Amino acid sequence: AAEPVRDVVRRLTAGGVDVVRVQYPDLIGVDRSRDVLVERLPAVAAHGLSFCRAIYHTSPQGDVVDVAGGLDAGLPDICVRPDLSTLAVLPWEPGVASCLADAYEPGGGLCPEGPRDVLRRVVARMGEVGLDPVAGPELEYYLCEPDDSSPSGWRRYGDAPGNVYSSGLKGDPGNHLLRTLRHLRDLGLGVTMGNHEFGGGQFEINLDHSGALDAADRAFRFKSAVQEIARTQGLLATFMAKPFNDEGGSGFHVHLSCLDGDGRNAFEGDGEHGLSETAHQAVAGVLEHAPALAALLNPTVNSYKRFGPDTLAPWLVDWGLDNRSAMVRIPPERGAGSRLEVRLGDASANPYLGIAGLLAAVYLGVREKSAVPPPLEGYGYDATKAPVLPGGLPAALDALEADEALTEVLGAGFVSAFLAYKRDEVARFRRHVTDWEFREYAYHL
Ligand code: GLU
Ligand code: MG
Ligand code: MG
Repeated sequence: AAEPVRDVVRRLTAGGVDVVRVQYPDLIGVDRSRDVLVERLPAVAAHGLSFCRAIYHTSPQGDVVDVAGGLDAGLPDICVRPDLSTLAVLPWEPGVASCLADAYEPGGGLCPEGPRDVLRRVVARMGEVGLDPVAGPELEYYLCEPDDSSPSGWRRYGDAPGNVYSSGLKGDPGNHLLRTLRHLRDLGLGVTMGNHEFGGGQFEINLDHSGALDAADRAFRFKSAVQEIARTQGLLATFMAKPFNDEGGSGFHVHLSCLDGDGRNAFEGDGEHGLSETAHQAVAGVLEHAPALAALLNPTVNSYKRFGPDTLAPWLVDWGLDNRSAMVRIPPERGAGSRLEVRLGDASANPYLGIAGLLAAVYLGVREKSAVPPPLEGYGYDATKAPVLPGGLPAALDALEADEALTEVLGAGFVSAFLAYKRDEVARFRRHVTDWEFREYAYHL
């Protein structure tokens, strides 16, 4: 049974906590929060907190982005209710604990676009085919330090040639990685290890695998925590997909498996390639729905600049056995460690929606007993071998809209709110003149 809220308050107070940060992951995965004095927690737990439904941007234009029932309805509130089972003390902010929250309609029911609830619905559907999903998220990000001479005001942190997988202070002069790793451990995120990644100033920290909602909760908190910890050092941690022209992008790889009714890994088996039939159907589902999944796992206009030949990011809709150029890689472990590593997603994805989309595709593949094409052999960036991923966000959004089966599993209310939001983003980008256009056209045409 849940701990009574009075006991929660007593426990927090005894531990020196006087503020609870109630964090709601919004449609695009931004952590929207209110800091609540701990003595007010019982009232907030009973009645919830108000948040404006429409999403505000901090763009220079000060855009208000509409979602259904937002601007058109006079910017009304949604009601956000804390999930006290997720309370955790913030190691870098003494006296503060954070907890996750769900969004409800003012009248009572859950909001269709609430990302945690989208994921819960898909997990419930997987139960219909006897599967309990397990996810292991991997997130990459770039760190930036202030630079007045750069147009953005930032440059890559600690950037020097040869920093790929370098250790210690060479690629990390401010000891960001050690500090972050320890804080994330103390926050209870189930981090296992971290390293400097391929790009200058790029880092990766790995998370344990766990049940799908818990894994998505930890990935969401991870992004928010890394950004905050970086700020305490005067740095910017960015999870945008492809922040720099001269370095690779940042991935959100998801390791996926499923438990069957007996608690065994349903992907374990002695079928082809040492995997079960269910594992093959799961891969087939992900390949079949990949163009629509891109809308959820690669949700920005910038995301599509990460894809491409010879990048370590995917380019084609394909799968391979321990092949890092494929969109779905089957890591070499078998038995209980049998799993897919879906490399499609980039770090800008809302972890709840990315994982929900993947699980919906796995569910459909298993339900429909879909068949997979043969796995990729060798070099993966050859467009004669497999279809190319969508070339941009508009194409991915159209693919999501056209994917009726996936929409049914994710929820039509969520999909239409997501499409409306993202099409507005595309329209705002289309109106905006970029620095590339000026350099390309201003001087000599
Ligand atoms: N940065 C690559 C990506 O965008 C992945 C590199 C790796 O394999 O760790 O997906
Ligand atoms: Mg990596
Ligand atoms: Mg990986």
